[in-house]
Amino acid sequence: MFISFEGIEGSGKSTAQRLLAEHLQGLGHDPLLTREPGGCLLGRSLRPILLDARTRGLSTRAELYLFLADRAQHVAEVIRPALEAGQPVLCDRYVDSTLAYQGYGRGLDPERLRRINDMATGGLMPDLTLLLDLPVHCGLERAGLRNRQEGTVLSEGRFDAESLEFHERVRQGYRNLAAEEPERFAIIDAAQPPEDVILQCLSAVEASLRR
Ligand code: C5P
Repeated sequence: MFISFEGIEGSGKSTAQRLLAEHLQGLGHDPLLTREPGGCLLGRSLRPILLDARTRGLSTRAELYLFLADRAQHVAEVIRPALEAGQPVLCDRYVDSTLAYQGYGRGLDPERLRRINDMATGGLMPDLTLLLDLPVHCGLERAGLRNRQEGTVLSEGRFDAESLEFHERVRQGYRNLAAEEPERFAIIDAAQPPEDVILQCLSAVEASLRR
């Protein structure tokens, strides 16, 4: 099973991913946890460039192709082999991030983005996408707090390099994507405490397995 986690900054994707992995491990599975950008060797080189894209003056299109280069290699090197070996894959960000950030956020054409996503992944789509949804101000507060605690402002997220309107467009974009594909998406209320978020994720996984 291939599950992607999507959401704005500070939505708790990586915590939900870890808690779901622990639950699956408890059931005897051996899930692979990975993320974009940075889930493969190439991506680990690209990640610092992408996180710093605004200050480096990267154009929207240059940035897009770096995300896609990471994705193409990530699918080939990590995701597809794991799925073929029967391992569940839990991926923090995937194709919908491109549609939400580069499409809704930065205004690139969604149909073209779908086509190049498809080219990068060879058509590999998640079985289930957990959209961790919460108001932008809550997410940014959480992300700000986390980054200050870790002392990594701008090196592990670049939320404050973007306007509030940008994050609002990304959030709304995700919600539109979820409405277009209700079978694949589950909208998780990420403003709830982690123990409640994980319960929502688990019931979405169970519902997806029943389909
Ligand atoms: O989720 P994570 O913090 O690892 O994401 C890394 C950064 O890359 C985030 O700040 C996010 O805004 C950005 N991003 C983006 N376009 C994507 C994927 C991520 O701008 N397609």
